[in-house]
Amino acid sequence: MRGVTPAGDALRRFGEELARQGAAQVGGSFTGLREADALIRTSPEAFLLGVLFTQGIPAERAWAAPYLLRQRLGHLDLQKLARDTGEVAAAFVMPPALHRFVHTVPGWIVDAARRLIAEYGGSASAIWPSGSHVLDVTRRLLAFQGIGEKKAAMTVEILMRHFGVPLTGAEFGNVAYDVHVRRVFLRAGLVAEDSATAVRDAAQAACPASPGTLDLAAWLVGRQWCRPRDPRCDECRLGAVCPRWTSLGVKGVGVAGRVPMSAPALLEGSKEQP
Ligand code: SF4
Repeated sequence: MRGVTPAGDALRRFGEELARQGAAQVGGSFTGLREADALIRTSPEAFLLGVLFTQGIPAERAWAAPYLLRQRLGHLDLQKLARDTGEVAAAFVMPPALHRFVHTVPGWIVDAARRLIAEYGGSASAIWPSGSHVLDVTRRLLAFQGIGEKKAAMTVEILMRHFGVPLTGAEFGNVAYDVHVRRVFLRAGLVAEDSATAVRDAAQAACPASPGTLDLAAWLVGRQWCRPRDPRCDECRLGAVCPRWTSLGVKGVGVAGRVPMSAPALLEGSKEQP
Protein backbone atom coordinates (compact mmCIF):
# COMPACT_ATOMS: atom_id res chain seq x y z
CA MET A 1 0.00 0.00 0.00
CA ARG A 2 1.21 3.51 -0.76
CA GLY A 3 1.27 6.22 1.87
CA VAL A 4 -0.83 9.35 1.64
CA THR A 5 0.09 11.23 -1.50
CA PRO A 6 -0.51 14.95 -2.11
CA ALA A 7 -3.14 14.02 -4.67
CA GLY A 8 -4.80 11.66 -2.18
CA ASP A 9 -4.84 14.43 0.38
CA ALA A 10 -6.34 16.87 -2.14
CA LEU A 11 -8.99 14.32 -3.05
CA ARG A 12 -9.86 13.85 0.63
CA ARG A 13 -10.26 17.60 1.10
CA PHE A 14 -12.50 17.80 -1.97
CA GLY A 15 -14.56 14.90 -0.62
CA GLU A 16 -14.94 16.58 2.78
CA GLU A 17 -16.05 19.76 1.05
CA LEU A 18 -18.71 17.81 -0.85
CA ALA A 19 -19.79 16.14 2.39
CA ARG A 20 -20.24 19.53 4.08
CA GLN A 21 -22.38 20.56 1.12
CA GLY A 22 -24.44 17.37 1.36
CA ALA A 23 -23.78 16.91 -2.34
CA ALA A 24 -26.01 14.70 -4.46
CA GLN A 25 -24.47 12.13 -6.76
CA VAL A 26 -23.84 14.46 -9.69
CA GLY A 27 -22.73 17.27 -7.40
CA GLY A 28 -25.58 19.70 -6.72
CA SER A 29 -28.25 17.52 -8.25
CA PHE A 30 -29.13 13.95 -9.15
CA THR A 31 -30.79 14.59 -12.47
CA GLY A 32 -30.73 18.27 -13.36
CA LEU A 33 -34.54 18.13 -13.24
CA ARG A 34 -36.30 19.58 -10.23
CA GLU A 35 -39.27 17.18 -10.28
CA ALA A 36 -37.13 14.10 -10.78
CA ASP A 37 -34.70 15.19 -8.06
CA ALA A 38 -37.62 15.82 -5.70
CA LEU A 39 -38.83 12.25 -6.16
CA ILE A 40 -35.40 10.82 -5.38
CA ARG A 41 -35.09 13.05 -2.33
CA THR A 42 -38.54 12.36 -0.88
CA SER A 43 -39.07 8.69 -1.68
CA PRO A 44 -36.55 6.16 -0.34
CA GLU A 45 -38.10 3.57 -2.67
CA ALA A 46 -37.50 5.80 -5.72
CA PHE A 47 -33.94 6.37 -4.50
CA LEU A 48 -33.39 2.61 -4.33
CA LEU A 49 -34.83 2.16 -7.82
CA GLY A 50 -32.48 4.92 -8.98
CA VAL A 51 -29.57 2.92 -7.62
CA LEU A 52 -30.69 -0.04 -9.75
CA PHE A 53 -30.74 2.15 -12.86
CA THR A 54 -27.16 3.41 -12.37
CA GLN A 55 -25.45 1.05 -14.73
CA GLY A 56 -24.04 1.64 -18.18
CA ILE A 57 -25.90 4.90 -18.78
CA PRO A 58 -25.14 8.51 -17.79
CA ALA A 59 -25.81 9.15 -14.12
CA GLU A 60 -28.38 11.90 -14.68
CA ARG A 61 -30.38 9.64 -16.95
CA ALA A 62 -30.28 6.82 -14.41
CA TRP A 63 -31.46 8.96 -11.51
CA ALA A 64 -34.26 10.46 -13.64
CA ALA A 65 -35.53 7.01 -14.57
CA PRO A 66 -37.73 6.38 -11.48
CA TYR A 67 -39.58 9.62 -12.25
CA LEU A 68 -40.00 8.61 -15.88
CA LEU A 69 -41.10 5.13 -14.88
CA ARG A 70 -43.73 6.66 -12.61
CA GLN A 71 -44.90 8.88 -15.47
CA ARG A 72 -45.27 5.90 -17.77
CA LEU A 73 -46.94 3.59 -15.27
CA GLY A 74 -48.91 6.25 -13.44
CA HIS A 75 -47.51 5.04 -10.10
CA LEU A 76 -44.51 3.59 -8.28
CA ASP A 77 -46.67 1.39 -6.09
CA LEU A 78 -44.60 -1.52 -4.83
CA GLN A 79 -47.51 -3.98 -4.86
CA LYS A 80 -48.22 -3.19 -8.51
CA LEU A 81 -44.53 -3.22 -9.47
CA ALA A 82 -44.18 -6.62 -7.85
CA ARG A 83 -47.27 -8.01 -9.58
CA ASP A 84 -47.57 -6.34 -12.98
CA THR A 85 -44.31 -7.54 -14.51
CA GLY A 86 -45.55 -7.17 -18.09
CA GLU A 87 -46.51 -3.54 -17.55
CA VAL A 88 -43.12 -2.77 -16.02
CA ALA A 89 -41.34 -4.38 -18.97
CA ALA A 90 -43.54 -2.51 -21.46
CA ALA A 91 -42.78 0.81 -19.75
CA PHE A 92 -39.08 0.19 -20.27
CA VAL A 93 -39.22 -0.44 -24.01
CA MET A 94 -41.57 2.43 -24.78
CA PRO A 95 -39.47 4.85 -26.87
CA PRO A 96 -37.24 6.39 -25.82
CA ALA A 97 -36.18 3.30 -23.88
CA LEU A 98 -35.84 3.84 -20.17
CA HIS A 99 -32.53 2.03 -20.02
CA ARG A 100 -29.85 0.54 -22.17
CA PHE A 101 -30.54 -2.90 -20.64
CA VAL A 102 -34.29 -3.13 -21.20
CA HIS A 103 -34.37 -6.88 -20.68
CA THR A 104 -32.46 -6.91 -17.39
CA VAL A 105 -33.31 -3.84 -15.33
CA PRO A 106 -37.12 -4.43 -15.28
CA GLY A 107 -36.45 -7.73 -13.51
CA TRP A 108 -34.36 -5.92 -10.92
CA ILE A 109 -37.19 -3.44 -10.34
CA VAL A 110 -39.72 -6.23 -9.82
CA ASP A 111 -37.35 -8.14 -7.55
CA ALA A 112 -36.69 -5.01 -5.49
CA ALA A 113 -40.40 -4.34 -5.07
CA ARG A 114 -41.01 -7.92 -3.94
CA ARG A 115 -38.06 -7.86 -1.56
CA LEU A 116 -39.09 -4.53 -0.06
CA ILE A 117 -42.58 -5.87 0.58
CA ALA A 118 -41.45 -9.22 1.95
CA GLU A 119 -38.50 -8.12 4.07
CA TYR A 120 -38.81 -4.39 4.79
CA GLY A 121 -42.52 -3.75 5.22
CA GLY A 122 -42.61 -1.87 1.93
CA SER A 123 -40.18 0.79 3.12
CA ALA A 124 -36.72 1.12 1.61
CA SER A 125 -35.59 3.26 4.53
CA ALA A 126 -35.88 0.12 6.67
CA ILE A 127 -32.77 -1.08 4.86
CA TRP A 128 -30.77 1.72 6.47
CA PRO A 129 -32.34 2.67 9.84
CA SER A 130 -30.43 5.26 11.86
CA GLY A 131 -27.53 3.77 13.76
CA SER A 132 -27.04 0.86 11.38
CA HIS A 133 -23.49 -0.20 10.70
CA VAL A 134 -22.12 0.50 7.23
CA LEU A 135 -21.33 -3.17 6.75
CA ASP A 136 -24.88 -4.23 7.67
CA VAL A 137 -26.42 -1.77 5.22
CA THR A 138 -23.97 -2.93 2.57
CA ARG A 139 -24.91 -6.54 3.18
CA ARG A 140 -28.63 -5.77 2.91
CA LEU A 141 -28.12 -3.85 -0.32
CA LEU A 142 -26.06 -6.64 -1.83
CA ALA A 143 -29.03 -9.00 -1.44
CA PHE A 144 -30.90 -7.03 -4.12
CA GLN A 145 -30.59 -8.16 -7.72
CA GLY A 146 -28.64 -5.54 -9.67
CA ILE A 147 -26.65 -4.26 -6.70
CA GLY A 148 -23.01 -5.30 -6.46
CA GLU A 149 -20.12 -3.97 -4.40
CA LYS A 150 -19.79 -0.85 -6.55
CA LYS A 151 -23.39 0.29 -6.25
CA ALA A 152 -23.55 -0.69 -2.59
CA ALA A 153 -20.52 1.49 -1.79
CA MET A 154 -21.97 4.41 -3.74
CA THR A 155 -25.35 4.03 -2.05
CA VAL A 156 -23.91 3.99 1.45
CA GLU A 157 -21.94 7.14 0.71
CA ILE A 158 -24.99 8.96 -0.71
CA LEU A 159 -27.04 7.95 2.34
CA MET A 160 -24.48 9.45 4.70
CA ARG A 161 -23.38 12.44 2.63
CA HIS A 162 -26.59 13.64 1.00
CA PHE A 163 -29.41 12.22 3.10
CA GLY A 164 -27.56 12.58 6.40
CA VAL A 165 -28.41 9.05 7.54
CA PRO A 166 -26.39 8.49 10.73
CA LEU A 167 -24.64 5.19 10.04
CA THR A 168 -21.87 3.83 12.23
CA GLY A 169 -18.63 2.32 10.96
CA ALA A 170 -17.81 4.98 8.35
CA GLU A 171 -14.25 3.65 8.46
CA PHE A 172 -15.60 0.55 6.69
CA GLY A 173 -17.01 2.59 3.82
CA ASN A 174 -15.40 2.39 0.43
CA VAL A 175 -15.14 4.11 -2.92
CA ALA A 176 -17.11 2.56 -5.77
CA TYR A 177 -14.79 0.73 -8.15
CA ASP A 178 -16.02 2.84 -11.03
CA VAL A 179 -14.22 3.67 -14.30
CA HIS A 180 -13.92 7.37 -13.41
CA VAL A 181 -12.65 6.63 -9.91
CA ARG A 182 -10.19 4.03 -11.19
CA ARG A 183 -8.83 6.35 -13.88
CA VAL A 184 -8.28 9.19 -11.42
CA PHE A 185 -6.64 6.94 -8.83
CA LEU A 186 -4.24 5.63 -11.49
CA ARG A 187 -3.37 8.92 -13.14
CA ALA A 188 -3.04 10.78 -9.86
CA GLY A 189 -0.64 8.14 -8.57
CA LEU A 190 -2.80 6.88 -5.72
CA VAL A 191 -2.45 3.33 -7.03
CA ALA A 192 0.20 1.56 -9.07
CA GLU A 193 -2.26 -0.92 -10.54
CA ASP A 194 -5.94 -0.95 -11.43
CA SER A 195 -7.47 -3.37 -8.96
CA ALA A 196 -10.33 -3.15 -6.48
CA THR A 197 -7.97 -3.99 -3.63
CA ALA A 198 -5.45 -1.31 -4.58
CA VAL A 199 -8.17 1.34 -4.92
CA ARG A 200 -9.73 0.40 -1.58
CA ASP A 201 -6.33 0.44 0.17
CA ALA A 202 -5.46 3.82 -1.34
CA ALA A 203 -8.79 5.30 -0.21
CA GLN A 204 -8.20 3.96 3.30
CA ALA A 205 -4.70 5.45 3.35
CA ALA A 206 -5.95 8.85 2.22
CA CYS A 207 -8.92 8.95 4.60
CA PRO A 208 -8.79 6.24 7.30
CA ALA A 209 -11.80 7.57 9.20
CA SER A 210 -14.05 7.49 6.16
CA PRO A 211 -12.52 6.11 2.94
CA GLY A 212 -15.78 6.55 1.06
CA THR A 213 -15.36 10.30 1.37
CA LEU A 214 -13.18 10.07 -1.73
CA ASP A 215 -15.91 8.41 -3.79
CA LEU A 216 -17.84 11.36 -5.19
CA ALA A 217 -14.72 13.55 -5.27
CA ALA A 218 -12.85 11.10 -7.52
CA TRP A 219 -15.93 10.45 -9.64
CA LEU A 220 -16.46 14.15 -10.27
CA VAL A 221 -12.78 14.73 -11.06
CA GLY A 222 -12.89 11.84 -13.51
CA ARG A 223 -16.04 13.00 -15.17
CA GLN A 224 -15.28 16.68 -15.31
CA TRP A 225 -11.55 16.94 -15.92
CA CYS A 226 -9.79 13.58 -16.05
CA ARG A 227 -11.53 12.34 -19.14
CA PRO A 228 -10.32 9.25 -20.99
CA ARG A 229 -9.18 11.49 -23.83
CA ASP A 230 -7.96 15.08 -23.58
CA PRO A 231 -7.80 15.37 -19.78
CA ARG A 232 -7.90 18.99 -18.64
CA CYS A 233 -5.10 18.92 -16.10
CA ASP A 234 -4.62 22.67 -15.91
CA GLU A 235 -8.26 23.17 -14.90
CA CYS A 236 -8.44 20.09 -12.69
CA ARG A 237 -9.09 20.24 -8.98
CA LEU A 238 -5.99 18.06 -8.48
CA GLY A 239 -3.89 19.80 -11.11
CA ALA A 240 -1.44 21.43 -8.70
CA VAL A 241 -0.46 18.21 -6.94
CA CYS A 242 -1.18 15.44 -9.46
CA PRO A 243 1.71 13.68 -11.24
CA ARG A 244 -0.50 13.75 -14.35
CA TRP A 245 0.09 10.23 -15.61
CA THR A 246 -2.39 10.86 -18.39
CA SER A 247 -1.20 8.02 -20.59
CA LEU A 248 -2.78 5.59 -18.13
CA GLY A 249 -6.38 4.47 -18.58
CA VAL A 250 -8.80 1.75 -17.59
CA LYS A 251 -11.21 -0.49 -19.40
CA GLY A 252 -14.80 -0.64 -18.32
CA VAL A 253 -18.46 -0.49 -19.16
CA GLY A 254 -19.32 2.71 -20.93
CA VAL A 255 -21.44 4.18 -23.62
CA ALA A 256 -18.75 4.43 -26.28
CA GLY A 257 -20.18 4.77 -29.73
CA ARG A 258 -23.50 6.04 -28.43
CA VAL A 259 -24.68 9.54 -27.95
CA PRO A 260 -25.78 9.65 -24.31
CA MET A 261 -29.29 10.94 -23.99
CA SER A 262 -29.59 13.53 -21.28
CA ALA A 263 -32.29 13.37 -18.62
CA PRO A 264 -34.06 16.49 -20.00
CA ALA A 265 -34.06 14.96 -23.49
CA LEU A 266 -35.54 11.76 -22.13
CA LEU A 267 -38.21 13.64 -20.25
CA GLU A 268 -39.06 15.60 -23.36
CA GLY A 269 -39.27 12.34 -25.29
CA SER A 270 -41.52 10.79 -22.68
CA LYS A 271 -44.03 13.60 -23.12
CA GLU A 272 -44.47 12.53 -26.71
CA GLN A 273 -45.81 9.19 -25.60
CA PRO A 274 -49.55 8.70 -25.70
S1 SF4 B 1 -7.04 15.59 -15.16
FE1 SF4 B 1 -4.80 15.61 -14.96
S2 SF4 B 1 -4.45 16.63 -12.99
FE2 SF4 B 1 -6.57 15.93 -12.98
S3 SF4 B 1 -6.53 13.89 -12.04
FE3 SF4 B 1 -6.39 13.62 -14.25
S4 SF4 B 1 -4.21 13.46 -14.67
FE4 SF4 B 1 -4.43 14.41 -12.64
